Amino acid sequence: RIHLQNEFDELETKCQNLSLDSNFEYFNELPLSSLTQEGLQESNYIQMTEIQRKAIPLALHGRDVLGAAKTGSGKTLALLIPLIEKLYREKWTQLDGLGALVIAPTRELAVQIFEVLRKIGRKHTLSAGLVIGGKKLEVEQERINRMNILICTPGRLLQHMDQTASFNCDNLQILILDEADRILDMGFEKTVNAIIDNLPKERQTLLFSATQTNSVKDLARLSLTDPEYVSVHEQS
Ligand code: ADP
Ligand code: MG
Repeated sequence: RIHLQNEFDELETKCQNLSLDSNFEYFNELPLSSLTQEGLQESNYIQMTEIQRKAIPLALHGRDVLGAAKTGSGKTLALLIPLIEKLYREKWTQLDGLGALVIAPTRELAVQIFEVLRKIGRKHTLSAGLVIGGKKLEVEQERINRMNILICTPGRLLQHMDQTASFNCDNLQILILDEADRILDMGFEKTVNAIIDNLPKERQTLLFSATQTNSVKDLARLSLTDPEYVSVHEQS
């Protein structure tokens, strides 16, 4: 316990002191909890991709990040590692309720993110759930309050915000929007705006998108505070 207490404080200091032009290449150079380091190693994630190298240190430092990188560039770890670590450094426990929300455009993508979270987060004791419809609303309603992390599709999440009396996001620490361009292409702009309206203003937000359209920029203006912009261009 004493050891853990020291690790929380040490990580907080290291993240605050992270140089924003840091140039780490391997996950094990990052100031991450040993639980996450073990999860990454056991999943054979060793060397970072470019978007991970650029986005993760900024997000660990506490910045809002607007990330642009094409499909297949490794955005899932770029968003999940800062999420887990944020809750870890906040000493989040299963009793602390909802701490993190990830919004993805489709059920399939939400499930993929959930599977990666299960792999790299296997040593952590945080609870995580999918809110993607397909099951009866009541089944989700019963479980949703016990979750620290929710991976959601926009329509179903807003439905819970409107219809699940006990749903509480007052302590939310971090919001992540993945594939924001696709979320908007699928017609979820109003839904996502309504979700964001329900969230505490004081939070960290990461927004990832394959393309930077005007509507993505509008959503970024609405959801991010003084964001750091990172992009990875295809090598030609
Ligand atoms: P994106 O969300 O940008 O489309 P993903 O996060 O789905 O990309 O990653 C694409 C693939 O690359 C996945 O199979 C994932 O396991 C793999 N991958 C991601 N980051 C790394 C890494 N640092 N080392 C090895 N493989 C990785
Ligand atoms: Mg992805």
